[in-house]
Formats: sequence, C-alpha cells, structure tokens
Amino acid sequence: MNLKEKLKQNKKNGQATLATNFYNFETLSAVLTAAKNENSSLILQLSESSIKYLGLSTAISMCRSLQKEYEVESWLHLDHGSDMNLIKKSIDLGFDSVMIDASEKSMDENIALTKEIVRYAESYNINVEGELGYVAKLGQSQSQLVFTQPEEAKYFVEMTGVDALAVAVGSAHGFYSQTPTLQIDLINKINKITDASLVLHGGSGIPHDQILSAIQNGMTKINLATEIKNSFMLKLREVLGHNNEIDLRKVFPKATNAAVELVTEKLQLINYS
Ligand SMILES: [Zn+2]
Repeated sequence: MNLKEKLKQNKKNGQATLATNFYNFETLSAVLTAAKNENSSLILQLSESSIKYLGLSTAISMCRSLQKEYEVESWLHLDHGSDMNLIKKSIDLGFDSVMIDASEKSMDENIALTKEIVRYAESYNINVEGELGYVAKLGQSQSQLVFTQPEEAKYFVEMTGVDALAVAVGSAHGFYSQTPTLQIDLINKINKITDASLVLHGGSGIPHDQILSAIQNGMTKINLATEIKNSFMLKLREVLGHNNEIDLRKVFPKATNAAVELVTEKLQLINYS
C-alpha cells in the first residue's frame, strides 16, 4: 500500500501512523527495530538538515537497505521541504512522500509552491504534504499561536490538491515550555471539511490522552523527532560519563536501545488508539 492510501485509510478508520525522524544509522535502526518488534508500519522522515548531514544518496541507500533488512512496512518521507530543487530531486530519486513547507509565506505563495510540487509528484503517485498555519519551529516563539482555520484549510486543499495537510492546532516543534493544549474541536472541524489527511507536527511532549483524542478526531500521521534525538543523546551522555570506552560499537547500542524503548512506547500508544 502506498502512503497516500495508508493515510486515506487512517482518515476513514480514525487511526494514525507514527512518523519518526532519523539522523544516522543508529537512529534509523532504532526506529525500525521498534516497528519490527511491534509489528507496526512506520514513516521514516528525513529533514533537509539530516540530508545535508548524511548526503542525499547515502541517506536514501541506507534507508532502503535497512527497510529491506527489517522487513517493516515503511515509507521514506521528506520532512519540511523548503528547497524546491531538493524536493523535486527527492521525488525523482524515489521518496514515497514529500512535504512542501511554505507555511511561512503568504497564502497565495504557499498555494502556488505547494501546487507546483503536487503537479510534479503526480506521475509518481506519491504522497504530498503541505502546511497551513503557524506551527512554531525550533527556536521560534511558541506563544504566537495562529491556528489553522477550517474554511482556509478547505480552500488550500482544493486549490493545491495536496494529499496530506499539517495544521496548526496547538502543537509546536522542540520541547514545550508549558504543557500544550491541542484544539481537539478544531481538528475535528478541519478533518470533516477537507479531503486531506491531517498531520500533527511537534508530537514530542504532547500528553498521551491528547494524542489519542487528536487521532480519534482526524489526525492520521503523528510526527516525532525531538524526543528521539533527546533519548539517544541523554543515554550517550550517561554512558560516557561512567567510563572511558573508546569503542563506539559498544557505546552506541546503549543509546540506540534508549531510542528503541521510546519509539516502542509511542507505537503502542498510537497503534492501539
Ligand atoms: Zn514538523
């Protein structure tokens, strides 16, 4: 099943698929191990900065090779694409899904850029995700909340033909300075008024009961990034603080396991919602 179909099915059934970012071999193997153990499908996300870090062709080959090895139903997705050339190149090189994030531009510009990518992706039949509204990025203020409006979302989806839509409904990227409150009614309204499959960004640190209501009310894809990085690095710091081991092959697996545990817990929450 391609991701477009999977998310449509989620929308119909009130279910969601977890989307995890990976940064290196260790975090990719961690998220796939968790999915395999849970017999779950999974979306594997690369941001533009992770592509810069890994190299595009290395990132793709590593992902494809591990997907085969782990035999997990999974899809490779470009997270927060803003460079039009990189988005098109990712599509050409076989990504299963891309996000075009022009949410900080004007509505007209956002529509034009998103539509351009939807058209480009058409012959590949892959999933295209757009964003409408202001989901604070790392380092941006979380207090300036501008929620996505249902009528605008409907208009945006109709104008662009986008398959999936990231919406601003009270979540933010990075860690929260205070416990977030998701606008569940708003999620419900946007879900009912548009054909798009809704996406929740900034899944790290949202209380579990809110994640569950968000899914029941139409969120079909839940993004998780910050907590993965954090669990890996915290464990690494802890292990290195206790010994002088220089064999990274003995140290890294402990950090990888911390990420496996985290993702397992999230999969259990989301899959049995
Ligand atoms: Zn995001």
